[in-house]
Amino acid sequence: MVVIGAGQAGLSAAYHLRRTGFRNGTGFVVLDHGKRPGGAWQYRWPSLKLGKAHAIHDLPGMALGEADRDRPASEVVSEYFGRYERTFDLPVLRPVDVLSVHDEGERLLVESATDTWAARAVINATGTWDRPFWPYYPGQERFRGRQLHTADFESVEEFRGKHVVVVGGGASGVQLLLEIAEVASGTTWVTRREPEWLDVEFSPEVGRESVAKVDRRVRAGLPPGSVVSVTGLALTPDVRRGLAQGILDRKPMFDHLTEHSVVWADGTEQHADAILWATGFRAALDHLAPLHLRAPGGGIRMDGTRVVADPRLHLVGYGPSASTIGANRAGRAAVTEIRRYLDGLG
Ligand code: FAD
Repeated sequence: MVVIGAGQAGLSAAYHLRRTGFRNGTGFVVLDHGKRPGGAWQYRWPSLKLGKAHAIHDLPGMALGEADRDRPASEVVSEYFGRYERTFDLPVLRPVDVLSVHDEGERLLVESATDTWAARAVINATGTWDRPFWPYYPGQERFRGRQLHTADFESVEEFRGKHVVVVGGGASGVQLLLEIAEVASGTTWVTRREPEWLDVEFSPEVGRESVAKVDRRVRAGLPPGSVVSVTGLALTPDVRRGLAQGILDRKPMFDHLTEHSVVWADGTEQHADAILWATGFRAALDHLAPLHLRAPGGGIRMDGTRVVADPRLHLVGYGPSASTIGANRAGRAAVTEIRRYLDGLG
């Protein structure tokens, strides 16, 4: 039994495997290519303080406890995940980069550059951080300023006194735009679609409805789509301030780039020193390509966490479970189903 990825989803799965009687070594193993514990959280920019992250849910069986909300989320979560792995003696091997998963009849072969694990079932929990999505716009290669993706962002300091164009209507784009605007000489915010503001308290009902929408998409074999595309953008106090100050004055997508500017189809031009592509992430599933799982709709057809085309494979932290709470639940659901599946094999 192999779990690929030791973020929230992978650790939740490992915890439940442990509880249902899988043993380290011969029973199951967790492979993770991070340098240290923490899943994608270890890479989040230092200015993302714990108090600014959306609700981070405790891993099953052990609470994060009291933590300084002014400390970077990357440090706090990394330490917490490390404690968690030690407390439950979870068999995490790192760094192990899984390059491919092949179907060898009775077993799935999980391969790194140096090792192969033959698994009766695989729980894939590889998240999205490793696949930042950069759309292409003409002239991108000619632009002389700095271009970076959310995944490369480290500090607002490098934007002090500069004009920054932020591309993208997701939660990260908005959060980074508001921070950059405090030091930049000017900012321009562009998004493909008009932003949809979520003007109601984020309640469990709103959350459930959003998850149900993404679930319907993956059951139909469509790509999951981003969470914000179904929830809308929360009108937090910071966001309301940004709207009032005109920082969140959204412009439509530009048409192309020149050496020093972005240009809209009507010829309007905006000088830019830097462009931040806050254009999201895709599921990091390249290593599953040998299994040929893509449905005609471009996604992987799912039934809960189970891949419809191969009941030995579960995707957790994917689609409807791509949140810290969703990842927790998906880990448990996947283990329950796999246990049943393996028991059925006798
Ligand atoms: P990850 O945390 O990404 O873990 C995946 C693990 O798999 C990593 O450790 C990685 O090293 C490993 N891995 C990947 N590929 C391989 C491979 N080929 N071989 C071996 N190992 C591999 N959710 C919230 O609930 N609250 C928030 O505030 C929040 N903020 C977010 C901000 C950003 C910028 C992003 C991108 C997402 C955010 N989310 C948030 C979503 C949330 O981070 C994830 O859905 C959640 O943490 C689930 O984690 P995961 O285990 O699925 O993935």
